[in-house]
Amino acid sequence: MLSLSHSYRCCWLFLFGFLLSSAQPLLAQTSPTSTLLRPAAVFDGETLHTGWQVLVEGDRIKAVGPNLLTPAGARTLELPGLTLLPGLIEGHSHLLLHPYNETPWNDQVLLESQALRVARATTHAQRTLLAGFTTARDLGTEGAGYADVGIKQAIDQGITPGPRLLVATRALVATGSYGPKLSTDVEVPQGAQEADGPEGVVRAVREQIGRGADIIKVYADYRWGKGEPARPTFSQEELNLIVQTANAAGRPVVAHSSTPEGMRRATLAGVQTIEHGDGGTLEVFKLMKQRGVALCPTVAAGDAIAQYQGWHKGQGALPERVQQKHISMEAALKSGVTLAFGGDVGVFAHGDNVREAELLVQDYGLTPLAVLRQATSGNARIFGLIDRGRIQPGLLADLVAVQGDPTRDVMALRQVRLVMKGGVLYKQP
Ligand SMILES: [Zn+2]
Repeated sequence: MLSLSHSYRCCWLFLFGFLLSSAQPLLAQTSPTSTLLRPAAVFDGETLHTGWQVLVEGDRIKAVGPNLLTPAGARTLELPGLTLLPGLIEGHSHLLLHPYNETPWNDQVLLESQALRVARATTHAQRTLLAGFTTARDLGTEGAGYADVGIKQAIDQGITPGPRLLVATRALVATGSYGPKLSTDVEVPQGAQEADGPEGVVRAVREQIGRGADIIKVYADYRWGKGEPARPTFSQEELNLIVQTANAAGRPVVAHSSTPEGMRRATLAGVQTIEHGDGGTLEVFKLMKQRGVALCPTVAAGDAIAQYQGWHKGQGALPERVQQKHISMEAALKSGVTLAFGGDVGVFAHGDNVREAELLVQDYGLTPLAVLRQATSGNARIFGLIDRGRIQPGLLADLVAVQGDPTRDVMALRQVRLVMKGGVLYKQP
């Protein structure tokens, strides 16, 4: 091994010297920093424009519009029949989880080593990126500690391909409210960090931020015991302190919540988004709208879990949880609350992120255009990501090209032909 690496090093030194001395101009021509992309159409995050092109320089978008000329030395990518979009933004993933029908959640948390989970997560990150998602909000490691911080670093350092991550680390739960729950006599590691009372929650928020959390995630309600409905966990005072502490450090808070009371408390505390909201009422959605809190409905997660529990989709009556989701989604749409886009990926397979978009269109009656806006400019605005989510000069060159027109047919999002993140191509036709 030693001798091998030695000979390689000689080789590299030789090549490097050669490039420096004689081939510098050639090098500049063969690896241009500018790329002109010529698709059939450009969806800029709001509207579809046929006959537009996009010029990328370095890691940024330099220009967008019709009749762009190829600058000297730039390469041109012809993308006939493809629509170019801003890189999609996943609003709710768990890279450290894999589908519950492969391994139940309890077993993932208790029986799988962190090394195994991290190894899986790297392939999950890669699949997410190649599915066209160049950014993801990863909302909790579910028992894998701060592993998401390291995965984010590995992606940022180019060690493993993946989306730009916003990580929540361990997430916060009220003592006794979460899982896994085994025998009452056995103390088991939990899927999130337990914290209570003013001192306890403030300390836990600061601890998570200090160790790399971009977001604080809090479980505002949960089922306290097996088989019972979800009920509120943290008090209003605790939630207020969690949000104040996180916001002071420049971090938003997201709340897992499905009960009207949990959602109401989280909204009044000032969270950025509420995740799931399955039991949401018109009243609480109106309050969210009034307070500028967005709903991330994760319809794909409930749909997947109902199928794991034996539902044969398309046959017979809808299971109760899916029926309830339809009722709450109808109320949400009626209230005008802003919708974030996120599927709770990990409950179902990473790389299958588009499933959320398909269900929103096919089962919940949203238009493909509305969903596309949510997954690009909408999520960017809600999450405060001012450098992405649109195709505009100066923004990050995070771009995806799909076959066909996804503003009319959501299934086109399955046909990803090109993925660029920060000007670097990860997939091309
Ligand atoms: Zn989740």
